[in-house]
Amino acid sequence: MTYPARITACLAVLAAALPLAARAQSTAEQEAKSRAANIAAWPDAARSLFGQKTTPAATSAPRAIGSYARGCLAGGEALPTEGPSWQVMRLNRHRNWGHPILVDYLEKLARDVPRITGWNGLLVGDMSQPRGGPMLTGHASHQIGLDADVWLTPMPRGGLSREQRENVPAVNMARSDWRDVDPRHWTPSHVRLLRAVSADPKVERIFVNPAIKVALCREPGDRSWLEKVRPIWGHNYHFHIRLACPAGMASCQGQEPPNFGDGCGAELTGWVERQHEAIFNPPKPRPGPKPKPKPPMGLDALPPECRQVLAAP
Ligand SMILES: [Zn+2]
Repeated sequence: MTYPARITACLAVLAAALPLAARAQSTAEQEAKSRAANIAAWPDAARSLFGQKTTPAATSAPRAIGSYARGCLAGGEALPTEGPSWQVMRLNRHRNWGHPILVDYLEKLARDVPRITGWNGLLVGDMSQPRGGPMLTGHASHQIGLDADVWLTPMPRGGLSREQRENVPAVNMARSDWRDVDPRHWTPSHVRLLRAVSADPKVERIFVNPAIKVALCREPGDRSWLEKVRPIWGHNYHFHIRLACPAGMASCQGQEPPNFGDGCGAELTGWVERQHEAIFNPPKPRPGPKPKPKPPMGLDALPPECRQVLAAP
């Protein structure tokens, strides 16, 4: 072994021996790096402009502007990074912002969670950026302060440390074949939580992995609550809560109310099979040079008012 190779090997051994928190800090660092790289590559993209805002746009009345995947947020409010029965995860992302109705909703849900599930509390994932808008990494939606990701892992007793909240890995709820949930992690409490969220009239949609919807479709009793629960890629570590536009808010473009029935038949089977294929038999990359990535959304793709939101003090 040459001298430099020996040093590299020693460093690898040392890195493996470091405590999780110290080693895992690189997760937050890697995220910061990829955000910086995206800003450098596309400085004028809407995601670069909104992704660098660390304060909300001051406004007389909070407003969700545009649609879930093309919009922004005026008068955003932060969910406190912890409360009696919740903790916000990945604090370095500054994505614990939302329309005040989302913040109120999550605080109430967190208060109710010990009673509904027996958990100590919720781990809250990404909501929106302080002024909403597209993000530098992840998520097509979450742009108008009405979407929130909630971890499917309960808050442990005593909560997580700040370092853990940046780095602790989430638990995959899908079984190894991705056709159903993993019985080692999936519990009746998960079903109770999703059922309670779905029952709230403020909730417009819930997104979960197809494997999770398979488990929900097996539940006996009333099936009407399943209509709002929609299958989508990912969402195997967390589920996604989407609130409806606040009543009378003309600037907010909502979605059609769900009209899919329980969604447990052929549609779900299709999702499960496409997901299985994508994971276990992915398309081979085409030979030749990689196609150039499409430029990200510009400000013109958002409602004109979002320029004022960006420029506001
Ligand atoms: Zn989400």
